[in-house]
Amino acid sequence: MGVVGAGQLARMLQQAAIGLGVPLRLLAEAADSSAAQVIVDTTVGDYTELDVLATWAKGNTVVTFDHEHVPTAHLQALVADGVTVRPAPHALVHAQDKAVMRRRLSSLSIACPRHAFVTTAAEVAAFAATVGGFPVVMKRTRGGYDGKGVFVVRDEAEAARLLMEAADHGGNDNGQHLVEERVAFRRELSALVARAPSGQVAAYPVVESRQRGGVCVEVTAPAAELDPALAVGAQQTAMRIAAELDVTGVLAVELFETTDGRVLVNELAMRPHNTGHWSIDGAVTSQFENHLRAVLDLPLGDPTPRARWSVMVNILGGSAPTLFDGYPHVQARDPRLRVHLYGKPVKPGRKVGHVTAYGDDLADVRRRARHAAAWFEGGDDEADEEH
Ligand code: ADP
Repeated sequence: MGVVGAGQLARMLQQAAIGLGVPLRLLAEAADSSAAQVIVDTTVGDYTELDVLATWAKGNTVVTFDHEHVPTAHLQALVADGVTVRPAPHALVHAQDKAVMRRRLSSLSIACPRHAFVTTAAEVAAFAATVGGFPVVMKRTRGGYDGKGVFVVRDEAEAARLLMEAADHGGNDNGQHLVEERVAFRRELSALVARAPSGQVAAYPVVESRQRGGVCVEVTAPAAELDPALAVGAQQTAMRIAAELDVTGVLAVELFETTDGRVLVNELAMRPHNTGHWSIDGAVTSQFENHLRAVLDLPLGDPTPRARWSVMVNILGGSAPTLFDGYPHVQARDPRLRVHLYGKPVKPGRKVGHVTAYGDDLADVRRRARHAAAWFEGGDDEADEEH
């Protein structure tokens, strides 16, 4: 199985592949990247060059991804060449391009934030007027991640500035930009499913994710105090999207739970997702193993949680230069905690690892996970307790 992209997701995919005895072949951006450190069969090359991608892909039974940045046209070329790509480009494009995704979900009558496609600041202002005024949210349709490419826009002048900048960078979606209402949300949720080409689907419990500055920092599985009808509805929405879009592998549906009790789809990811990392330690079958099983068209594993609560907290690059210094304290204090470090150099704000705690008492589980992550970061978690 070929994997394009050598970040932490490919690294954790390898962990699952070891157990299944499935050899992975990696196309990595650099020889020392997170997954290249742990996958023996690694080719270093640029996935944006079709020649490099096609030559590497030839020896693979199936190709899957660590990220969504491979140009759609390259993937279509691979498919035309006889390579099995999962998810296939006709599905993946909905995770690559927010405009394509919004149009498709709207045509399926799946609830999304109110939105419009615009080319001028005047159109942004006209849209704002229909959703109760500024601020609105403008999004680059391609290439965004971790909140990069998402802008809260407060007035028409700011919209004009953003459109100008985008034009300077070669434009966006053929000159069209996506603008959305700024959703008043209670919290963000994620509904994660794995779907095999056979049509079999495994649905994980709906989780709550907390973001800081557009970056996911903490996930609680399952989402606490979520109305069971909303939870089931969100899982059904994710299963329906997976089937309608013909997704193979993991699909994460990022959701807003609005202050007035609705669930809206924010965006889609078609690969293992940060909101599913808890499943490595907290579910019978992890999202990584189910991604592999789905991509190989094998029967899926049970996504049921192993504990009442799991809390995953990301370790972001902080003041501590090496994460290993955190081990003696964290391991002595909490022998039941699970730690995953990604082998990445520590840079401020970068995702360099995560911890997962699980148990029966949510407040305790959360405290343990937050404390450990803060310790690895070199900070004091007391200030975090109230988040
Ligand atoms: P990315 O592709 O960079 O992850 P997202 O579309 O997921 O971008 O947006 C990143 C974050 O920005 C979201 O997690 C959410 O916190 C906020 N956000 C995005 N769209 C909206 C919206 N329409 N209303 C309010 N907040 C939003």
